[in-house]
Amino acid sequence: MTDSEAASDGDRRFDGPREARAPVEAVPAVEEAEREAAWPAVADTPAAASAAPAATRIIVLANQKGGVAKTTTTLNLGVALQEMGHRVLLIDLDPQGNLTMSQGMNPDVIEKSMFDVLVHRIPISDVIERVEIDLAVASIDLAGAELALSSLIGRERALQKALVEVRSRYDFILVDTPPSLGLLTINAFVAATGVIVPVQCEYLSLRGLVQLENTLAMVRENLNPDVNVEGIVATMFDGRTLHSREAVEILEENFGDLVFTTRIRKTIRYAEAPVKGSSVLRYDPTGSAAEAYRELAREVLGKEVLHGAQAREHA
Ligand code: ADP
Ligand code: MG
Repeated sequence: MTDSEAASDGDRRFDGPREARAPVEAVPAVEEAEREAAWPAVADTPAAASAAPAATRIIVLANQKGGVAKTTTTLNLGVALQEMGHRVLLIDLDPQGNLTMSQGMNPDVIEKSMFDVLVHRIPISDVIERVEIDLAVASIDLAGAELALSSLIGRERALQKALVEVRSRYDFILVDTPPSLGLLTINAFVAATGVIVPVQCEYLSLRGLVQLENTLAMVRENLNPDVNVEGIVATMFDGRTLHSREAVEILEENFGDLVFTTRIRKTIRYAEAPVKGSSVLRYDPTGSAAEAYRELAREVLGKEVLHGAQAREHA
């Protein structure tokens, strides 16, 4: 991407609180070769990728803070997109296995999981379970994945490579990540076409968002030049408190259009549904909690139109 393209892209980009960011550098030649090997079926230049707007979107839900609704958003956004007719795969990349649990499965007794996919390179289709939605499951041994991966060549590309097998079967692949910016989250960023950051309105941490962007910038420079934050979603919003409203204002002042207009309100429904092994869309289909994620899904789909339009402009 040239500087002028980067500049025209500025509104959509996540630059941290409006500071200059290092220019995005070209991918080193050796990485380029590896990229080609890893993405045989998919266009691998930004221009070519934009010529195929129907390509699978791989969206990572990330925030190194725990308890901000990454898992809740992965499941409910995924089910909302599926409800609208899209083919959706969820990936549980958190050793805590909360996403796996929220579909009624027990990560403690799961035999094959994303650990085996990443470390032993078994096909990801072997660990996809279907309850409400296709889900590549986690087990507790995923906690050892970062260590096991760290000595392997291509350790940052294990997920990207695993997804080649199933990518064309889905319109959306949503990846739930652990509350850290370690190797599992980096694997997700390398495989991603975009990142959505859930932010809890109560304990807003702009510093945390800058750290996340710094990690993404590192991934952009070395491993995946196209990955950006495509949106920030305000979660656990309580419109009755000044604090919540102020938190959203601060987000919008700093990140402008990147903040989704959908607010995910605070309600006990989101905690109740996983206990029943269900998304909130199945648990309480007509409730406002389900509707909030449908609204978010429409915004995410709208961004696709935006991506397509910008891509055509750049072509
Ligand atoms: P993370 O994956 O970021 O750690 P979770 O999605 O697990 O966060 O959410 C943390 C807790 O907050 C869970 O118990 C979840 O049920 C609850 N929760 C998530 N979203 C909301 C919301 N909008 N309102 C109230 N509770 C929520
Ligand atoms: Mg989680």
